[in-house]
Amino acid sequence: MNGIRWLEIAVTAPAEAAEAIAEVLSRYVPHGVAFDYGPVPADEADWERPPLPRDTFTVLAYLPMTPGWEDARQRIEEGLWHLRQILPFPPPRFRVLEEEEWSEAWKAHYDVLRVGPFVIQPTWRRAELRPGELLIELDPGMAFGTGTHPTTRLCLQALAEWLRPGERVLDLGTGSGILAIAAVRRGAGWVWALDIDAVAVRVAEENVRRNGVSDRVEVTQGSLSEALARGERFDGILANILAPVIRQFCEQGWGALLRPGGWVIVSGFLCGEQEESVREALANAGLTVCGRWVEADWVALGARRE
Ligand code: SAH
Repeated sequence: MNGIRWLEIAVTAPAEAAEAIAEVLSRYVPHGVAFDYGPVPADEADWERPPLPRDTFTVLAYLPMTPGWEDARQRIEEGLWHLRQILPFPPPRFRVLEEEEWSEAWKAHYDVLRVGPFVIQPTWRRAELRPGELLIELDPGMAFGTGTHPTTRLCLQALAEWLRPGERVLDLGTGSGILAIAAVRRGAGWVWALDIDAVAVRVAEENVRRNGVSDRVEVTQGSLSEALARGERFDGILANILAPVIRQFCEQGWGALLRPGGWVIVSGFLCGEQEESVREALANAGLTVCGRWVEADWVALGARRE
C-alpha cells in the first residue's frame, strides 16, 4: 500500500472492557489490535512471581483511509458507544497518520518483548540476549500472535513451566507460529502446528523458517479433525483460541491424542463464566485442571490426562 493515510484509534479503558473493545475494533482493521500498557520490565515478566495487577489498557488499531473508511469509523464509534453504556470508559481518540508515521507507530507497539525465558524480537529490532534467554524472531504479518496479547504471554509462561525436553507437541491455532517456535526453543522434539486460516499458515511457515526450526515444526492448514485423522500421540497440546472452540475440542475427544499423563494448555478466554465453562468441558473430557496462569482478566489453564 503506497502513500495511503491511516486513522489511529486509541481507546483507554479498564481491563475488563479491553477485550470487548478489541473485538469491536478488530472487525474493521486489517492488522489486528495492539494492547499497550507501557513497557513490560523483564523482571515483571518473570513467571515465578505473581504479575502486577494492571488496571488500564490502551487498545490501539489502525484503519487505512481508503474508500469507505468514514463508514468504518462511524461503525466503530457506534460499537464503542454501545459498549460504553455497559462499561463506562472515555471516548476513543483519533489521529491521522501518514504512511511512514503509521509504520513507525505500528512497529513501536511491537517492540522486543520478554516473557519468562523467551525474548520475542520483531524482525525490525535487535535484542541483546542475556545468558539462558531464548530468542524467537517474528514477523507477525497479518496473523495473530505477537506476544502483545496477554493470552499469548500466558501460554508462553505455562509452556516454559510444563514442557519437558524431547516432547511432541500439537499447537492448535498456531497464528504466527509463536508458541510452536517457543516450544522448540524450550526443547520440544517435534511440533505439529495447525491453523484453519491460510494466511496464518503462510506466516507461520515463514516464521518457522526464519527461526531455523523447519526440521522440528510442521505447519499444516487444518484443525483437530486433521490431527484426529492422523492418529498420532502427543505429550502436550497448546490451544490459545476461544472458549467455544476449546469446548468443542473437548467434545470432539482431543484427550485421545494425549499419552496418559500428557497435558493441555488452553487460553483465549476471560476469568469468570468463560473460564468455568472451559473447566467443565475439560473435566468432561477426562482432563484434570492443575495449572492456572492469570494476567489482568485473561486466564490460561493447564490440565492433564490421568
Ligand atoms: N497461538 C497463537 C495464535 C492464537 S490466535 C498465540 O497464542 O498467540 C488463534 C488462532 O486460531 C488464529 O490464528 C485462528 O485462525 C486459529 N483458529 C481459530 N479457530 C480455529 C479452529 N477451530 N481450529 C484451528 N485453528 C483455529
